[in-house]
Amino acid sequence: MIVVRQKPVEEICSMVARHRNVLLVGCNTCAAVALAGGEKEVDTLIELLKLTMRRKGETTEFSGCVLQRQCEPEFIEHLDDRVYDAILSLGCGAGVALLSESADKPVYPALDTLFIGASQGFASWRAECSACGKCVLGQTAGICPVTRCAKGILNGPCGGVNNGQCELGDRPCAWVEIYDRLETLERPEDFKEIIQPKDNSVKTTYNKLDLSGEGGAR
Ligand code: SF4
Ligand code: SF4
Repeated sequence: MIVVRQKPVEEICSMVARHRNVLLVGCNTCAAVALAGGEKEVDTLIELLKLTMRRKGETTEFSGCVLQRQCEPEFIEHLDDRVYDAILSLGCGAGVALLSESADKPVYPALDTLFIGASQGFASWRAECSACGKCVLGQTAGICPVTRCAKGILNGPCGGVNNGQCELGDRPCAWVEIYDRLETLERPEDFKEIIQPKDNSVKTTYNKLDLSGEGGAR
């Protein structure tokens, strides 16, 4: 899922302070699961913003609603019935983008969109994919070097690996993990295969993708 995290309240306040009536719009899909954009988070953020604005002597009004999905036009139509002069989106970047396209008022992001991740237990996700557009997981035993290696290198490890840890000190070396898993899969020889440089134009090619004529498959 898309993993998101709420921005600091002060940062959000500085974005919306010039407006008088701000509508907070949550998203009941990834953002809600990430505990950042569901009903509870919308209500909590409204109270926090009211308190912070009151302390600053501002009179901004806040109201809220939660859409099933901010990234699909069908779900955002009923916002027209609301009274607001700005929207604060508690959705991922795609939600903010679609709301901005649909609304004739400014839309601000209350969240930072971090990565595509897999659950590691309650309220915990690990980055697994950066949507690079050309997947190499078949060669790397399902561990993404673009995402999990601090340098995103396609043929590692680099010289900074130390006892299986990345030189950044915040993670195991992705390339040691790749080697270990290939060994477990009895494919250690695959580690010697050179992964060719990525064609980064693929990513820009996919700035729009319509699969409707392909039955969803290629
Ligand atoms: S190689 Fe690219 S598409 Fe595959 S998991 Fe990594 S970032 Fe995602
Ligand atoms: S130590 Fe490993 S994870 Fe860290 S940058 Fe080098 S190859 Fe990537």
